[in-house]
Amino acid sequence: MERSLKNQVALITGASSGIGTGIAKAMAESGATIVVNHSSEHSLESAQTVANDIIKKGGKAITYQCDVSQETEVVNMFQDVVSQLGTVDILVNNAGIQKDAKFTEMTLDQWNAVINVNLTGQFLCAREAIKEFLRRGIDPAKSVACGKIIHISSVHEIIPWAGHVNYASSKGAIRMMMQSLAQEYGAQKIRVNSICPGAIQTPINTNAWNTPEALDSLLTLIPYNRIGTPEDIGNLAVFLASDLSDYITGASIFIDGGMTTFESFATGG
Ligand code: NAP
Repeated sequence: MERSLKNQVALITGASSGIGTGIAKAMAESGATIVVNHSSEHSLESAQTVANDIIKKGGKAITYQCDVSQETEVVNMFQDVVSQLGTVDILVNNAGIQKDAKFTEMTLDQWNAVINVNLTGQFLCAREAIKEFLRRGIDPAKSVACGKIIHISSVHEIIPWAGHVNYASSKGAIRMMMQSLAQEYGAQKIRVNSICPGAIQTPINTNAWNTPEALDSLLTLIPYNRIGTPEDIGNLAVFLASDLSDYITGASIFIDGGMTTFESFATGG
């Protein structure tokens, strides 16, 4: 049973920041060659820093600019990565954004922006990844599976979130996409799972942790009494990409310090 990700190519969307960077570094330490995807020129430098950090530690990484909500860019990214690195073995569908608004004030642009990146982006990348997995077939020297997809969802695939209806809707839909793909491609030995983080300290949610008052308020939702880190998510992603988790497919795995035990019920209900 192969425990490492040696000789496998992992394409991680939105790896220039936060959780994506944590997953990129963890997978690189486990032997994978990393494609550090980012969306635009403004994040080129941070993407290069992630790739350089990996290379300095003896790992392998390249950067690739692609807006995952744009079909042509996604198709080109997969074609280019396959011609440069031979294949893609692992897709981490991580890129995501928030555009928060009270529902009656939410614009169609805010709705579309979040759905286009968080949901359509995951669809486009999963489609191109599965085509590549099926073209390549199983390579037993690398993994018993034909390919692995990890969707980065959220506790908000099951916890409703007032003021964030576009975001919660995108994450709820990811659950059905993930399970439908696991069902459709299980026979071909393609494993598809979701990681559902709780509160992880990254730039997407700075307001939730950057003052002592905000952090205290956040911690009332977390029985384990600490905010999560990108490293926490990286560790789980490595497990889900490796053959150690070979019988896991179609699963949403919550990694949230107990947030989904609904802490407010600890003192009654
Ligand atoms: P982050 O630090 O803001 O990182 C978001 C990443 O997504 C950046 O690398 C960004 O790159 C990339 N991205 C955004 N739009 C993109 C696009 N159109 N194409 C390609 N890349 C794009 O946020 P994060 O907290 O790490 O979030 C990562 C994922 O975890 C998201 O799906 C988020 O919903 C999920 N999540 C986060 C938490 C949390 O507490 N932090 C909890 C649950 C779930 P550019 O700068 O290049 O755009």
